[in-house]
Amino acid sequence: MTWSIPIGRFGGTTVRLHVTFLLFLAWIGAAYAMRSGMRAAIDGVLLITAVFACVVLHEFGHVIAARHYGVATRDITLLPIGGVARMARIPEQPTQELVIALAGPAVNLVIAAILYAVTQTAPHLSAADLQGQGVGMLSRLSSINLFLAVFNLIPAFPMDGGRVLRALLTYRMDHARATQLAASVGQGIAFLFGLLGLLGNPLLLFIALFVYLGAATEAQGALFRQLAHGMIVADVMTTHLETLSPDSRIDEAALRMIHTPQQEFPVVDGQGKLCGLLTHAAILRTMHEGKADAAVGDIMIPDIACLHPYQTADDALRLLEESQVPAIGVKDGQGRFVGLISRANIGEVMTIHVLRDRNRPPSALPLSR
Ligand SMILES: [Zn+2]
Repeated sequence: MTWSIPIGRFGGTTVRLHVTFLLFLAWIGAAYAMRSGMRAAIDGVLLITAVFACVVLHEFGHVIAARHYGVATRDITLLPIGGVARMARIPEQPTQELVIALAGPAVNLVIAAILYAVTQTAPHLSAADLQGQGVGMLSRLSSINLFLAVFNLIPAFPMDGGRVLRALLTYRMDHARATQLAASVGQGIAFLFGLLGLLGNPLLLFIALFVYLGAATEAQGALFRQLAHGMIVADVMTTHLETLSPDSRIDEAALRMIHTPQQEFPVVDGQGKLCGLLTHAAILRTMHEGKADAAVGDIMIPDIACLHPYQTADDALRLLEESQVPAIGVKDGQGRFVGLISRANIGEVMTIHVLRDRNRPPSALPLSR
């Protein structure tokens, strides 16, 4: 996300422009200017900007629907291929996912309808061409919105249609199996696009790659969540950890860093309570700034979220996704620190479970519930 520039914040969601998007605008402008002159270049850039304003409204359709179900959206990033909204979590309730997925394309349909009312020209998919000649800007924009709605409903991740398909399948089967099936359908479609792309349309080839990767990511995430079902925090936490005190110095922490493979140190006070987390990166950065005598308590990430050992591993995954910290803490009934959970160690534990279960008779599979 370092290559994106924040351009504004609306209702708790930051909108960012990716650098490649600005390059894309410049490229469109230059292409028009060389072919048809300055006036056409300005029109071209204006149209693309208007299209992306519609893409932002589309994303806010998802954001508002998600907020209705209590799911926050951290940011929306605009790429030349469209917008990406990062939600704190994906609801597993099919109706919720269905409504959130459909809210985006619905926004484009509403925009197309409004522009139709204004221009009195019916939007048409064949007119959704950025270089359309002899058609007014507004009616072109109306056709492009119709195209955006249809394109996003293609049943393949990461398009909204992929989520719609998964939500519909989830009414009939569990969420993980629905994701696997929807991802397979999506990859089939990606393959078809790729084939058509090879036959002449390079844009389709690009979309095929994008869809293929989207399906793979989604399927992996669902597998992770399915494996987490039925496990508790105590099953997946790390307990043998080197801890630091908030008044230790950073150079002491650096010495400890050499002797342990731990990626982050829990910072624990005299009463055994977790005060924060000190990462390798923070230690190295502080040393680099020449502040080796700084106190650990001033450099650590404070206020790390904590769970109880008997909460579910699902809760841990969700908290990791939402809080964007490298690890979360585990504390006992008295509030004393007992362990850490990081994404890496959850992944490792799950791999071990899968390998172990492979060697068991099928009736003992804990995952087949
Ligand atoms: Zn969408």
